[in-house]
Amino acid sequence: MQTYPRATPRGPERALATEAVHAGREDLADLGVHAVPLDLSTTYPSHDSRGEAARLDAFAATGAQPAGPPVYGRLDNPTTARFETALARLEGTEAAVAFASGMAALSACLLARSAAGLRHVVAVRPLYGCSDHLLTAGLLGTEVTWTDPAGIADAIRPDTGLVMVETPANPTLAELDLRAVAHSCGAVPLLADNTFATPVLQRPVEAGARIVLHSATKYLGGHGDVLGGVVACDEEFARQLRQVRFATGGVLHPLAGYLLLRGLATLPVRMRAAAVTAADLAARLAADPRVAAVHYPRIGGAMVSFEVVGDPHEVIRAVRLITPAVSLGSVDTLIQHPASISHRIVGAEDRRRGGISDRLLRMSVGLEDVEDLWHDLDAALDAAGAGAPARDGARPAGRINAGGS
Ligand SMILES: *Cc1c(COP(=O)(O)O)cnc(C)c1O
Repeated sequence: MQTYPRATPRGPERALATEAVHAGREDLADLGVHAVPLDLSTTYPSHDSRGEAARLDAFAATGAQPAGPPVYGRLDNPTTARFETALARLEGTEAAVAFASGMAALSACLLARSAAGLRHVVAVRPLYGCSDHLLTAGLLGTEVTWTDPAGIADAIRPDTGLVMVETPANPTLAELDLRAVAHSCGAVPLLADNTFATPVLQRPVEAGARIVLHSATKYLGGHGDVLGGVVACDEEFARQLRQVRFATGGVLHPLAGYLLLRGLATLPVRMRAAAVTAADLAARLAADPRVAAVHYPRIGGAMVSFEVVGDPHEVIRAVRLITPAVSLGSVDTLIQHPASISHRIVGAEDRRRGGISDRLLRMSVGLEDVEDLWHDLDAALDAAGAGAPARDGARPAGRINAGGS
């Protein structure tokens, strides 16, 4: 019988770059194949309905991934399971549960906690625009208290099910001290969105987070051609997530699971190469009088945000090599205006409180040559014009704002 790899309860034993290439693929040589089998089945024939009944009962009772052959695609898929195994290994968690998108993954986390009667969430701004919206609008029946990191302990109530943070945060790249935040959470699980850092730069569970969320659409996939989400966590929470996923249906398509597993293999190389270019561009932008402020995280990475002195919309209009598009984490460099797109759904006042200026541009640096990228940026900054003197508390050029704020 074919074996289905599962997440193992241990952190990386081999170096991350090695795990990225081999995790979730350990049985391939035994199977006599080199590429990962892509299983597109929605259902699985079986003459053993007694056995299937037993597997379904066990899943309903525990949420443990059923052993043996899969039953139905919404419950289990061998290709997706490989991606989950690999991501859990990279994040150093017992398990990972994949979803159709980052928002489906976050929704499952919120529903799993609400189902336990814990519908209150404490969250720190900024968050990704749609995450902010989902919490603010209470679309899933949750209630949110926004606070700064110092206010987390006081904001926690008896019905608080989650504390949610992003670091570096989308789109300002503000960083917070995950260890201190985890301490403030006490017994309440800390959910850290690790989409921007990826496990290459940061493993939140090592700092005390219990739940690690990814929009796999971004760096994990890495090529702008797959939507997905994944939660890395302990097996106890993973069981609740699998039961929510089974009942609500936000499963990852197996082809997406295949592409995400393939993306993981090059994640460390892509992240390191793009980060070198991003740091270089951040330094050039910080020294440029056409730029009012630059945000680049202390832990590094491939995201740079900056506030222009002139009109940010003209930068978007003028770029030619850089792709003017929302999303991030692709092999090509993308730029967008958060106040118009990624954070448009957040109210203007809430954006301002989250430090998201109308002058802010968010750039996801890809794998192009740094001189070609600078050439394009330089021309786009010229097109932005001198503008009025920067407002919004933008700081003068010549420095990079790292972390904090
Ligand atoms: C894009 C993004 C999400 C949402 O992910 P989707 O895959 O688009 O649903 C969540 N968090 C962060 C930080 C993101 O950048």
